[in-house]
Amino acid sequence: MNIHEYQAKQVLKEFGAPVAAGVPILSADDVEGAIEALPGPLYVVKSQIHAGGRGKGKFKELPDDAKGGVRLAFSPDEVRTHVKEMLGNTLVTKQTGPAGKQVNRLYLEDGADIDRELYLSILVDRETSKVSFVASTEGGMDIEAVAEETPEKIHTIAIDPLTGITDGDVTKLNEAFLLEGAAAEDGKLLFPKLYKAFVEKDMSLLEVNPLIVMKDGHLRVLDAKVSFDNNALFRHPDIMELRDETEEDAKEIEASKHDLAYIALDGDIGCMVNGAGLAMATMDIIKLYGASPANFLDVGGGASKEKVTAAFKIITSDPNVKGILVNIFGGIMRCDVIAEGVVAAVKEVGLEVPLVVRLEGTNVQKGKQIINESGLNVIAADDLDDAAQKIVKAVKG
Ligand code: GDP
Ligand code: MG
Repeated sequence: MNIHEYQAKQVLKEFGAPVAAGVPILSADDVEGAIEALPGPLYVVKSQIHAGGRGKGKFKELPDDAKGGVRLAFSPDEVRTHVKEMLGNTLVTKQTGPAGKQVNRLYLEDGADIDRELYLSILVDRETSKVSFVASTEGGMDIEAVAEETPEKIHTIAIDPLTGITDGDVTKLNEAFLLEGAAAEDGKLLFPKLYKAFVEKDMSLLEVNPLIVMKDGHLRVLDAKVSFDNNALFRHPDIMELRDETEEDAKEIEASKHDLAYIALDGDIGCMVNGAGLAMATMDIIKLYGASPANFLDVGGGASKEKVTAAFKIITSDPNVKGILVNIFGGIMRCDVIAEGVVAAVKEVGLEVPLVVRLEGTNVQKGKQIINESGLNVIAADDLDDAAQKIVKAVKG
């Protein structure tokens, strides 16, 4: 689960990290109160969407030369002008895709005088199975580009889970960031706090881009992106309250209600598969034959007919879906249950696109029989390769 920048900063502040004073603006009525709460004269008006690259983003409704999604303001009047232009409009950034995201919330912050912008993130490094810091002096910009062009400027510092973050780790971080004096002293306090926040709140990613050295020599968390491990959310009711469903794909919300592992994608072939590995392989082979999957969907091991029906409905509700591939290897999951779910869903919502079904494994004969006797217009397939070719052909002609 992702949260907004202003929420992430509130969480980090509770752990003692230095963040600017700021006030969220959820509607135009909040603007005057927000301005009064901050000292000025420098303010920053920040779009709150679950995507980065806001500063360089463009609003769809505004002319091309209009300012982006993060704007400095030098007076209360300028704040008001920016809020009017930004609130409710659609921001397109490198991370939103061309459709962009509607900006329903803004964050008004006390502006900082920046000396240097650094990049810091904490993540779980699957290679070393350790929580790791990624540190670079090249903050404020696209870290993927830094990794590509100047990989030597990116430092990874893995934390031993038995000791937690040590003085040695902190020194390495200070060195990676070239911090000295007051900033290095701040670093000694800040890095362990961020590590503690990451571990205690079960984060999967904490990205501070940029972490800044201010003109007064101190550190400040200027931007914050936090993702949480969904499997641990049950033990963080305070975090769960921060969920903003308007930022999420409606189909993904519906899927999570049915405990389905579903991720919406940009392609046009809807996939219903059991097992994450088989789902990945199915997506790959669709690509191999020249089409793109509209989603990742793992219906899970022991899915019920109801769950399969819900999954099928989610797939057909996507207007981008031009064809559906059901690819099931029945182990714990029985092929007849899948067949019943598919038939039930089609009876309820109809079927307007080609459907290829490949069943294999437990109760496969029964499953095929259910589909054959249903009168559904299904294209049967023998194996994964055959199934992928058939659905791509049915969609692309
Ligand atoms: P992002 O574009 O979505 O990553 O949003 P950020 O919060 O990282 O802001 C983008 C850029 O705006 C930063 O890299 C800074 O250069 C600038 N910026 C943000 N806040 C301030 C501020 O308080 N003072 C100044 N001078 N610049 C800021
Ligand atoms: Mg940023």
